[in-house]
Amino acid sequence: MKIEFVYKILPVFIFTGNWFNRFKFYRNATGITIGNCIVIKPDVSAFDYVLILRHEKVHTEQFYRYLGINGILYLFERFRIKLEAEAYAVQYDSRYFDTFYKSTKAIAENIKDNYAITKYSYEDVYREVMKARINHR
Ligand SMILES: [Zn+2]
Repeated sequence: MKIEFVYKILPVFIFTGNWFNRFKFYRNATGITIGNCIVIKPDVSAFDYVLILRHEKVHTEQFYRYLGINGILYLFERFRIKLEAEAYAVQYDSRYFDTFYKSTKAIAENIKDNYAITKYSYEDVYREVMKARINHR
């Protein structure tokens, strides 16, 4: 277990290794955040580890910022899109990834296809990702 901080002073607890296997129903995920605890899949590359950690740390910031109700908000598609768009905007910071346009499109497709989004169109998701990325710059 490792401790890092968000907002300079708020702790984040990071678990890897065997911990991941305890969350069998999240098999497709490479990282999980519950409250201020992050669990990262053990066999990811060093590069992916850094990216996954960046993503999951945003979820812990959301946990602190929303005083714990982010987990409930996450159940609603509208908020799930917003919360994931913010996390991906930080994870795939345009300083590291191809063109701004191309990666924005890829993130929007990923959220639309892999986060059970049915009530919102790809364009809706794209708009939210674009907003998140502009805010992140
Ligand atoms: Zn996420």
